[in-house]
Amino acid sequence: MPKKTADQVFVREHNLSSVLRLIHTQSPISRAKLAVITGLNKSTVSSLVDELLSRKLVHETGSNSGGAGRPATLLEMNPQAGLIIGVELGVDFVSVAVTDFLGNILWRRREDANPNEDQDKMINQTLRIVKEAMTAGKQKNTRFIGLGLATPGTVDLKEGVLIFAPNLHWRNVPFGKIFTEHTKLRVFVENDANAAAIAEHLFGTARHCQDFLFVFAGVGIGGGLFLNGRLYRGKNGYAGEIGHSPIMAEPSQTVCHCGNRGCWETYANQYSIIQRVQARLEVKRTSIIPKLIAEQNSPITIAIIKQAADAGDREAIDSFTEAGHAMGQGFAGLINIFNPEKIILGGPLSIAGEYLLPGIKETVARHSLPEIDQQAEVLLSPFGADASLIGAIAIVVDDVLSKPIHVERR
Ligand SMILES: [Zn+2]
Repeated sequence: MPKKTADQVFVREHNLSSVLRLIHTQSPISRAKLAVITGLNKSTVSSLVDELLSRKLVHETGSNSGGAGRPATLLEMNPQAGLIIGVELGVDFVSVAVTDFLGNILWRRREDANPNEDQDKMINQTLRIVKEAMTAGKQKNTRFIGLGLATPGTVDLKEGVLIFAPNLHWRNVPFGKIFTEHTKLRVFVENDANAAAIAEHLFGTARHCQDFLFVFAGVGIGGGLFLNGRLYRGKNGYAGEIGHSPIMAEPSQTVCHCGNRGCWETYANQYSIIQRVQARLEVKRTSIIPKLIAEQNSPITIAIIKQAADAGDREAIDSFTEAGHAMGQGFAGLINIFNPEKIILGGPLSIAGEYLLPGIKETVARHSLPEIDQQAEVLLSPFGADASLIGAIAIVVDDVLSKPIHVERR
């Protein structure tokens, strides 16, 4: 056979990716239907499917016996294609998970981390958990497809370098190099909110959605903007740093970790909620929060405030509602600018999502244009606090969907 030209190789890789993406979104699906949707002829589709089968990325599953004609064998994604390691570097925690190729969690661990400790200590803690994850994973499957790392801050995707994470006070950390050396896996590094947006598009509530925004809320607030079916990255890949929008009408004295004053996240992040509660407690309001803190021998956390809210504690509920209003101001601005179909809240703060959403929705209704607001659904991520951890998995899956040849034949 004559050697394929570069163009032919490119076209085939492009078609291979299109077929795999279709199987991912529409499985189970027959070869005949793949041919109809892609417009490729049946023999080309069969050859592409054979290629995906040889890489164990898809497998055959039963047949559609209903209707006229010969039953067709159906194809679906192969969960056993290989394992993926996901790492979420939170500001005050580290989460690691091992999943199958469909993102089903097989093993996981979350440990608190201290953002005030030095960088090496937190990285070594993460590497230790990743090593345990790999040992646990090897008992389930011998093939690892890759490792994804989601981090707050701006990321150089190509080099896998964290450029700047204001809330960690970290600059220029070569995560890609560090994790490749320690794991020998293919490593992908992505901003936490972008990663979570990709997860929503691949596995979550935005599977068939072309225009949506993901809002990550925790110590910081970050955004993943999905526009026209693609993640919008901006000129240098840093788009979506919505938490640092100087969004409030009245400049506040609160200094953001980025160095500025009046950033949206200083009003609506995790610390702001704790500060709201503390301010209420200082004026001696009746609340069960001091009792919970004493019982659990813990500082005030979002989990404790949520526990109080669940018990009907007025101060806890009102603090969340206030924070929801502050969040809603940012949401309204985003809705007015982007006219999204959905705006999805996830990340650590979403454990209190049920208490935040009413305030968010009320403020969105007040501050966004009615015609635009009516189309935008505000909802919680199905992955909740794990949104970026699943995001770390999703960036690896997304690479395979784009470049199936990155996974070897076996
Ligand atoms: Zn800021």
